[in-house]
Amino acid sequence: MYPDVLLHIDGQWRAARGGRTMPVVNPATEAEIGSLAHAGVEDLDEALVAAAKGFQAWRRVSPFERSKLMRKAANLLRERNEAIATMMTLEQGKPVAEARMEAFAAADIIDWFAEEARRSYGRIVPPRFDNVSQLVVKEPIGPVAAFTPWNFPLNQAVRKLSAALAAGCSIIIKGPEETPASPAELVRAFIEAGLPDGVVNLVYGTPAEISSYLIPHPVIRKISFTGSTAVGKQLAGLAGQHMKRATMELGGHAPVIVLPDADLDQAARSMVAAKFRNAGQICVAPTRFLVEESVYGAFVERFADATRRIKVGDGLAEGTTMGPLANARRVQAMEDLVRDAVQKGAELVTGGKRVGNSGYFFEPTILSNAGTDARAMNDEPFGPLALMTPVSGLDEALAEANRLNYGLAAYGFTRSSVDAARMSSGIASGMVSINHYGLALPEVPFGGINDSGSGTEGGADALDAYLNTKFVSHLQAG
Ligand code: NAD
Repeated sequence: MYPDVLLHIDGQWRAARGGRTMPVVNPATEAEIGSLAHAGVEDLDEALVAAAKGFQAWRRVSPFERSKLMRKAANLLRERNEAIATMMTLEQGKPVAEARMEAFAAADIIDWFAEEARRSYGRIVPPRFDNVSQLVVKEPIGPVAAFTPWNFPLNQAVRKLSAALAAGCSIIIKGPEETPASPAELVRAFIEAGLPDGVVNLVYGTPAEISSYLIPHPVIRKISFTGSTAVGKQLAGLAGQHMKRATMELGGHAPVIVLPDADLDQAARSMVAAKFRNAGQICVAPTRFLVEESVYGAFVERFADATRRIKVGDGLAEGTTMGPLANARRVQAMEDLVRDAVQKGAELVTGGKRVGNSGYFFEPTILSNAGTDARAMNDEPFGPLALMTPVSGLDEALAEANRLNYGLAAYGFTRSSVDAARMSSGIASGMVSINHYGLALPEVPFGGINDSGSGTEGGADALDAYLNTKFVSHLQAG
């Protein structure tokens, strides 16, 4: 059921030149389920040569043909949905229903960018003089180095891959070492759809070694990274030193403002689903709940009732609605954050402990009244932890929402259009969703500000990150 995962370089699936491999572990059982090839510098050099060659081939393929090939890859992914979803659950832990949705969503993202491939229009600027034409032309930026994480093994990779290919770029993806098989299937779909050799290359290894080698390399023209703020700052710094354009999709600590006129049932239902999906390991997961004090008790009760109904278990088992955390680091992080908050006076409403002794399971957890000195109120939990805080009104809620330097996602619940407008303009954040969870569709922007990164990975703007703007002024001779 689980393959040994190889590198893909210049059209070939192969082991690392040095023969090195790493184990892959199922987070639900802690059993070793397979291995992956661990790239060394000689593999990276071959990938760089391939990407340079692949770029020259792919940039000449017409947008119309690029689009057709991309759609073919999307359909292959759809045909293989069940097998890919099973691999993803085995390596990452999420319930297989979520894995299926992720794989179908990946196909939709490819389709979206396949359409956008045909729309990277330039423009004509009216000239000041006769016989001059002034053209603004969009050209692919060049070979891309993309670094993708383990929380959405397919969807963090597919946004970068599809945008790069739509624009006419080649790419080297450093995939997630802990969840390597499902992103390899994404690459396989493109190869089997007919992508020329070298256009897409996939490597795994030691992340810091790979990024410090690829980012400064002259072949690479564009960096895209999804992961933690701390690593993102290092990589953005390196990209800046070498004048490489970079898209950074980093951490978040999403506030959720609940006002007294909100539909509390709808707020609790939608936010419990958004909080505990993927066991909370989502950069846009709702985290700091800022609830107006007159409805605080009623909201926390509804939220806790729905949370207690979550069934934690192996993602492949019937009825599981939340799987294990993806690795032991997250369990440790959850235990530390909960202990620290309780020591500093927070009350545990539900959860708070590891489940069982094998597998990285942790209870869906709610803390009430954690002070701003609690680490969980400042550091991204990236796990199944919701923090409830009563507030006196919208002014206090907005001040707390903006207290942290993160700015990725924010949520608000109110029936008042005036307060909804205050939230959408008053919260410093890349994305705001009012009265529902409405983020991350292929056709809408996806990205953050401040410590949450820069650039967008969704919607029409996402393609621009992979394009240079060239100006051509032409005086007709004679
Ligand atoms: P981490 O900071 O070590 O790694 C985060 C990601 O960055 C991983 O995919 C890792 O492979 C990669 N990475 C780490 N060092 C790198 C380097 N020098 N060069 C290139 N890539 C590098 O932490 P972790 O334990 O894997 O993940 C935990 C934290 O990462 C979470 O708290 C969360 O903030 C963040 N994270 C965010 C996202 C997201 O969707 N924005 C996804 C995964 C992890």
